[in-house]
Amino acid sequence: MNPYWSRIVGDLAPYTPGEQPKLDRLIKLNTNENPYPPAPGVVAAIQEELGAAGDSLRRYPDPEGGALKAAIAHHYRQFGIAREQVFLGNGSDEVLAHVFCALLKHGRPLLFPDITYSFYPAYCKLYGIAFERVPLADDFSLRIDDYLERDSAQIGGIIFPNPNAPTGRALALDAIRALLRAHPRHMVVIDEAYVDFGAESALVLVREHANLLVTQTFSKSRSLAGLRVGFAIGQPELITGLERVKNSFNSYPLDHLAQVGAIAALSDNAYFERTRAAVMQSREELARQLAALGFGVIPSAANFILVRHPEFDAAVLAQHLRELHIIVRHFRQPRINDYLRISIGTPEECAALAAALQYFVSQSNKKEPAP
Ligand SMILES: *Cc1c(COP(=O)(O)O)cnc(C)c1O
Repeated sequence: MNPYWSRIVGDLAPYTPGEQPKLDRLIKLNTNENPYPPAPGVVAAIQEELGAAGDSLRRYPDPEGGALKAAIAHHYRQFGIAREQVFLGNGSDEVLAHVFCALLKHGRPLLFPDITYSFYPAYCKLYGIAFERVPLADDFSLRIDDYLERDSAQIGGIIFPNPNAPTGRALALDAIRALLRAHPRHMVVIDEAYVDFGAESALVLVREHANLLVTQTFSKSRSLAGLRVGFAIGQPELITGLERVKNSFNSYPLDHLAQVGAIAALSDNAYFERTRAAVMQSREELARQLAALGFGVIPSAANFILVRHPEFDAAVLAQHLRELHIIVRHFRQPRINDYLRISIGTPEECAALAAALQYFVSQSNKKEPAP
């Protein structure tokens, strides 16, 4: 270890993001980006902001992001969400980092699934939070009883994405409600990065449960991964705790342009509904096509599917696709080593992927020696 590093640095286990290759004519289905551009009003709003004689860039942005918080609260008004219940961050990854620091460090292990977003253990390392991985069932569903049965006195909190990543499986709201009731003295954090693609949001439970925090992002369903806007919603005192940590770290996580762009994205609900419906339709179509090729497909409520073929090694399949400039994600991890996670692209991208896999499967079958 370099002698100038602080002691903690050598022990970190940093998250590895999916690659962003600089290749032309790439079909990029590896990082769950939305295949559609952001709502047209987003670019227009950012251009208008830039046109304001550069003052937008000369001045510090609103540290509270008040206008964006108000827009998010308004968007979720059917759940009775007020502006004081919204926390903003530079992507929900930053929101989650502050959540781990502000709400999940209690000296007892934080529980999350064994197969889940791999940033969680990275944050635990960073903040020195003990954790325990709770195995998913064989079909990758989350067994809620495993969490309900735990002795509240022995745990430090619970976090998981719904739908889960990288499985795509969604959990019903009743299960989350039961969890909130079983462990009222502990935080239950639901990471809803993919909720808009078909799961039920826990936001409806925020009013009744002081121990619930829901995080969401503009990166996936709003096509704004490059703008870096995420948020959390919970009762006001949770938000106050998060603001204390945020203001001990960076008072200005969201720049002017990000705030303006995110507000514009929220204002175009018709575009949002249209694009998320298109992604969900493509997902079902792709799942059908891959199942017909012999793939096992985990049922997904997200903008990706997790699939495996009983006869072909996932790394070989990923390499074959890569040679055709189609990039998917293969996690070299226990239990999902045989799987590929495929982000849902445009109908044309999905068709190209299905055709490439169909060709590979049929060519390989031909090579099998006759029985
Ligand atoms: C993509 C993702 C996030 C974070 O996305 P940001 O781009 O940082 O907002 C959080 N949780 C899960 C499970 C994700 O897949």
